[in-house]
Amino acid sequence: MIQSIPYGRQDVTEEDVLAVSNILKSDFLTQGPTVPQFEDDIARYCSASYAVAVNSATSALHIALLALGVTRDDFVWTSPISFVASSNAALYCGASIDFVDIDPDTFNMCPVALESKLHFAAKSNLLPKVIVPVHLAGASCDMARLYEIASFYGVKIVEDASHAIGADYRSCKVGSCQYSDVTVFSFHPVKIITTGEGGMAVTNSSDLANKLRLLRSHGITRSQSDMIKKPDGPWYYEQIDLGFNYRMTDIQAALGISQQKRLDIYIDVRNEIAQSYSCKMSSLPIKLPHVSEHGRSSWHLYIIRVPPQSHLKVFNSLRSDNILVNLHYIPIPMQPYYQRMGYTMEGLPNAIEYYHSAMSLPIYPTLSELDQERVAEAVRRHTK
Ligand SMILES: *Cc1c(COP(=O)(O)O)cnc(C)c1O
Repeated sequence: MIQSIPYGRQDVTEEDVLAVSNILKSDFLTQGPTVPQFEDDIARYCSASYAVAVNSATSALHIALLALGVTRDDFVWTSPISFVASSNAALYCGASIDFVDIDPDTFNMCPVALESKLHFAAKSNLLPKVIVPVHLAGASCDMARLYEIASFYGVKIVEDASHAIGADYRSCKVGSCQYSDVTVFSFHPVKIITTGEGGMAVTNSSDLANKLRLLRSHGITRSQSDMIKKPDGPWYYEQIDLGFNYRMTDIQAALGISQQKRLDIYIDVRNEIAQSYSCKMSSLPIKLPHVSEHGRSSWHLYIIRVPPQSHLKVFNSLRSDNILVNLHYIPIPMQPYYQRMGYTMEGLPNAIEYYHSAMSLPIYPTLSELDQERVAEAVRRHTK
């Protein structure tokens, strides 16, 4: 039988295995010295002042919104074309979520749509506290533009960079937080680098970093400057907020440190695959992914658009050739849970069109040239 090609997969080396097994034989499995080391590596990599490691990007989004003061009285806006976690995080805070349509070329939150939606929201006093732009497929949103628009209305920004660690924006790394309050990364196995499960929040604000650390671990502090009362002994600690157990383990952090060493190589290879795909498929009746003018994408996904009338047929044909194409994502407001709350696709025409034509082709660092050709050949055959 011909082997199937998944849309994404992790790359774990012998070096990774060794790094993890060393931790298993050490004194600390969790909350030891390895998590802060991984945090330093990521902060330094993207030139952010602080990094806080957690057990998933979903947790990072949740505590980032809480740290920015999001409560049940607030609105949070995100992109309808994202994984549900981008939106669910706001619901965890009791806040209301709303969606800003995507740009039809970049598939990211559309600055023009944002500006007009904010304009109307301001009039009715329904401005969001935070927007969560998503760097879909690994290409950064136009953050300078989004920042300019959001700042005018006093709206804060959390970047969902789950796809985009290693990507550039205006010659900075995504995560530099030049145009946002917090940026969030995911280390799920399909993402650029992995810790099994895991995530990270980076920020340039020491105040936000402190809040994130507090919320990651039960709201407990051991730092005297944060305490309400006077310690009555060396055992003393205080719970000063309601936090969670969102900690990353040292086992995960060791894998992350080891993986991070290959991050730039991964980005190079993903860029090569994307270029090669675009070359091989340039004359087909499909829309190739937009190449950002703002900086290099991390190419977490390679998303093509096929005409809506052949979308299902092409998708099924590729799947039956054991090329496991996928669709990232079903628009969040179309999910039954969201529909039950009354959400519709009204005002989101670009997201609807996207859903009826988008398809993610396999892309990952160990995808062989032979397999790339097999994918391109199949797409060629099925779209003719
Ligand atoms: C994967 C992903 C998440 C959630 O990441 P986890 O680490 O699995 O919690 C959030 N947003 C986007 C856009 C994602 O792709």
